[in-house]
Amino acid sequence: MSKILKKITNLVCQPVFVGIITFLIALIITQTIAFKIYLLEKDQDLDKVKQESIRIKEQLESSLINSITSTKIISFLEERNLLTDHFDSVAAEIIADNKFIDALQLVEGTVISNTYPLTGNESVINYDILNNPASKSGIQNSQERLELYFQGPFDLKQGGKGIVGRLPIIKNNEFWGFAAVILKANTLLNAAGIQSTGINETYIYDLIKVEDQINESSYFFHHEIDYLEGIYHKNFVPLGNWYLYVKYINPPHFYKALPFSIMGILFAITLSIFVLYLTNEPTKLRNRVSVKTEELRLMNNSLQQYTNKLQNSNNELEQFAYVASHDLQEPLRMVSSFLSLIEKKYSDKLDDKGLQYIHHAVDGAERMRQIILDLLDFSRIGQINEEVFKVDLNKIIAEICSMQQNIIEQKNAQIKFNQLPVIIGSKVQFTQIFQNLINNALKYTKQDIIPEIHIGCEDLDDFWRFHVRDNGIGITPKNHEKIFIIFQRLHSKLEYEGTGMGLAIVKKIVEYYGGTIWLESEIGKGSTFFFTIKK
Ligand code: ADP
Repeated sequence: MSKILKKITNLVCQPVFVGIITFLIALIITQTIAFKIYLLEKDQDLDKVKQESIRIKEQLESSLINSITSTKIISFLEERNLLTDHFDSVAAEIIADNKFIDALQLVEGTVISNTYPLTGNESVINYDILNNPASKSGIQNSQERLELYFQGPFDLKQGGKGIVGRLPIIKNNEFWGFAAVILKANTLLNAAGIQSTGINETYIYDLIKVEDQINESSYFFHHEIDYLEGIYHKNFVPLGNWYLYVKYINPPHFYKALPFSIMGILFAITLSIFVLYLTNEPTKLRNRVSVKTEELRLMNNSLQQYTNKLQNSNNELEQFAYVASHDLQEPLRMVSSFLSLIEKKYSDKLDDKGLQYIHHAVDGAERMRQIILDLLDFSRIGQINEEVFKVDLNKIIAEICSMQQNIIEQKNAQIKFNQLPVIIGSKVQFTQIFQNLINNALKYTKQDIIPEIHIGCEDLDDFWRFHVRDNGIGITPKNHEKIFIIFQRLHSKLEYEGTGMGLAIVKKIVEYYGGTIWLESEIGKGSTFFFTIKK
């Protein structure tokens, strides 16, 4: 279970997966917005088509109102037998004022008795309207409604296409006939404000007659389109039982929403690439870090190998120095003791020169013994684990002073020290440090000047910092490094006794305790040796 979970987590953390998810989310959001815009624009298109349909319907109805008035006048006059021979003059009067009426008729029963204008309409005189099968339902409708009812559009007897509106005339409570009005197709379209083709740049129109059902002949225009699809509006015109259809030819809502959709897709792609880049960056960084870590590990390994080698050769060297200095002592002691024996036994047989030679030899052996002892001390540091105790440095300084009592008195030297700390370490090693520094301060003094030596300590949190200051001969700065190197001396043994090991031993012990040693000094101005010890 946890494995599956881990696999899923791994997959989800993949930059490609993050990129795909970002793309999908951005795509869904932008496409939803684009779709909303599409719906909004579609609503607007629907609204426009509806407005257009209402406008056409209103225009049509307002123009047909004239027909109602005209037929009512004819009917009124005929019902009261006032029309008699005045039909033509009345009709002429009416038509002159109504540009949307093509002709007026009087129908007696179902036979057309009068028509105005007669010219062009002669063929309809005495025409029984029942002869036209298309008129039958219309005649019935008009009779039932007792108000103006339009029929058509259909082919007119006198030629051409048009609509006929009939208003029943009732005389003495009996149906007498109709007052009829004729509107040719073009007149009707003009009245409605529709072009003769039924199409303009934006809309396509049709007027459909509703009888029992809609069939082919019910359409005014025979456009081969489905009005019930796309953006359209259907309006009922009761005056003629018509449906007025208005349809948007190329509704713009799709093209208005399309740029948003395309921009959304581009945005989703850009965003996902950006996210992919961003999520890839840590992976690249991680890879770079792991490469660098590996390089570092290899370097560390080789460094460790070098350190080990160095450590080994150091150990061997120290071992060698220790063994050599230890083993050399015995023959040296033999040389010294045999020389002493010669001096004792044969002193009376030796002349002054012989005695002087023996003296030099003993002196040399003594110096060599000192060197070997120093070397032994030096090689012991860090190799033989000294026992570690609390060491009171004040006591150590006091012991050193009492050991050097003779020289102190001889030179009338003054040794002062502040309260020094108690530290954890080897008593032997701290004695070696202070002994060498104090001995040097007592040794390298200026003639005729009382040597003053000051020893102090400062607490530096993690370290102790000690100093041993003298007013001796001083050391030129160019030799400040050199004097810490083994056997390096700045004076001959005739000037000052010594082996050149003292400061090398001090440095090695100080570094063993995690510290450093340095000095401030100038020729003739005394020297201050500083050293630190890690707490
Ligand atoms: P050594 O004293 O046995 O010669 P050191 O290693 O103690 O060896 O000192 C090295 C050299 O540093 C000395 O030969 C001496 O020239 C110089 N030196 C050490 N301490 C002082 C000092 N306090 N004042 C002047 N010179 C000094």
